[in-house]
Amino acid sequence: MRAMVTGAAGFLASHLCDRLVRDGFTVVGMDNMITGSAINLACLEDEAGFTLVRHDVSKFISLDGSLDAVFHFASPASPVDYLQLPIQTLKVGSLGTHNALGLARQKAARFLLSSTSEVYGDPKVHPQPESYSGHVSPVGPRGVYDEAKRFAEAMTMAYHRHHGMDTRIVRIFNTYGPRMRPNDGRVVSNFIVQALRGEPLTVYGDGSQTRSFCYVDDQIEGIMCLFERGGSDPVNIGNPDEFTVSELAALVIELTGSASEIEYRPLPVDDPRVRCPDISKAKTELGWEPRVSLEEGLARTIEYFRASLAA
Ligand code: UDP
Repeated sequence: MRAMVTGAAGFLASHLCDRLVRDGFTVVGMDNMITGSAINLACLEDEAGFTLVRHDVSKFISLDGSLDAVFHFASPASPVDYLQLPIQTLKVGSLGTHNALGLARQKAARFLLSSTSEVYGDPKVHPQPESYSGHVSPVGPRGVYDEAKRFAEAMTMAYHRHHGMDTRIVRIFNTYGPRMRPNDGRVVSNFIVQALRGEPLTVYGDGSQTRSFCYVDDQIEGIMCLFERGGSDPVNIGNPDEFTVSELAALVIELTGSASEIEYRPLPVDDPRVRCPDISKAKTELGWEPRVSLEEGLARTIEYFRASLAA
């Protein structure tokens, strides 16, 4: 089996590349390196089964040889990144998805789109099942990411229905773990890095907003289950244990043994009040559910950041 992974040098896709190579795939990774990092692929450097191609998937993709799978993961994904790269984010979600679908169609490959819980926006239904169509502002600052991913889902379904392509859509809820960048801007990496440096933890708003955090190994396992035995309709993959941002801050302080305090900052525009996946579908259709608790996953992630900050 030969697979293309777009966004291969990113946090999630680099873990996916590791898994695919371990499972015996030959993998072509593609990345333009604007938010990805070569360090994430260091352990694949000497793997004969892995090659990295530097290319922006918003431009036409050409690749020699056959492909059995295209995993389309390219996109800025942290709010800080996509607010700084609004046009690139819209382009990779729209043009990039079109190009990745075109490549998969030409090679008769199965296509998997990495979508997001952001398609639900600031949800009015809680927890969010796949049937909920969301509450998104197209013209708000987060619209560049949310609408790009919503378009990407629509495009994927159009290729499935119109061209009969074999497609998958995973809606990824907040995922964390080793290889997040220290300056990624997302809450888990921010809090851990701040705690380890003895700096105040920056809680946006009053900290009562909720998120549900999935450890990266669980996320990758869920994605592989969907790839192997899922259908074309979107599936939520995430951990349904829901925490407020304040609870997360307290847990990070406890687990790091830090003396850091909390500093309150303004809540970003359109920041969702709550977020929690309904994973009934993943449980019944894929036989998947997460195994790693937040405490355990945070402990592993803290170890990673301790080592990488020391280096
Ligand atoms: N957040 C925070 N402090 C930070 C970074 C984020 O309080 O230093 C909050 C943010 O406002 C949001 C939640 O944590 O309510 C999750 O933010 P993140 O950027 O990780 O991802 P999102 O779920 O918003 O895409």
